[in-house]
Amino acid sequence: MASMTTHENFPTVRHTIFQNSLMSALLDGIYDGEMTIGEILGHGNFGIGTFDGLDGEMVILDGVCWQVRHDGSATRATMDQRSPYTVVTNFVPHTVMDAPENLTRKEISPIIDSLVPSQNFMYALRITGEFEWVKTRTVVKQEKPYQKMVDATEEDASVDFENLRGTIAGFRTPVYEKGISVPGCHVHFLAEGGTGGGHVLDFKLRSGTIELCPGTDLQLRLPLTAEFSDADLDPDDLDEQIHKTEVKE
Ligand SMILES: [Zn+2]
Repeated sequence: MASMTTHENFPTVRHTIFQNSLMSALLDGIYDGEMTIGEILGHGNFGIGTFDGLDGEMVILDGVCWQVRHDGSATRATMDQRSPYTVVTNFVPHTVMDAPENLTRKEISPIIDSLVPSQNFMYALRITGEFEWVKTRTVVKQEKPYQKMVDATEEDASVDFENLRGTIAGFRTPVYEKGISVPGCHVHFLAEGGTGGGHVLDFKLRSGTIELCPGTDLQLRLPLTAEFSDADLDPDDLDEQIHKTEVKE
C-alpha cells in the first residue's frame, strides 16, 4: 500500500473527495437534494452530511450511512433517502498516529495540524477511541417554506455523551474552500455500534487513534434544481453564517 512519510511536505498520491452541492447553498436554505444515499455511497465509504429537510446529521463509516436525529439517537439510513449536502471519500489511512491521552478538541487540533503535510490540501480525518465526553448538536428537521440555516439551527439541541467508544469522522478543509465547504475541521460523531451521535462541538479523547487521508482532487456535483439555480451563494456575511451554524459559539 502506498504510504506517506511525514518528511514530505505534500501528498504524493492523488485521491478524490466527492461533494454534493455547496455549504453556501445549505446556508441559503436549499435543504432538498437530488442525490440518493445509494448514489452517494457509490462515491465513497466515509463521510458526513445531512438529509433532505435538514433531517439530522449524516455519518458514513465503512460504507454504512447513519442518520443522527436531534435527540442524539442514530439509525441506518435507507438507500433511497436523499441528501442536500454530503462530502465523501474512499478512506485510506495514509497517516496513522496514537493520540496522546486525555486531550480535548482544542488540544488535539495542533497535533492534527502538525500531522498534515501541507495546509493547502484537503484531508479526511478519523479519530477512533475511548471518549471521556463528546458534546454534539444536531439539526432539527425543517418544514417548507424553508428558512435560512442561521435561523433553522437556532433550535438545535445539544446532546452530551459520556464514557463511551466511538468514531469522529469528517474533513479538514482549506480556508480557500470557504462557501464550497466548511473551512477547518468539520466532524461528526458516531458512538460504537451506531447507538448515537451528532455534529461535534467539543470532546475529550481518553485514548485512541488519529488517521488522515489526504485529498488532492475535489469532484463537485451541483444540483440541477430550480431552488439551487435561484440561490444566493455569495452572501456578504458568509463568515458569520458559517461560524454561527457550524461552530455554535
Ligand atoms: Zn456538521
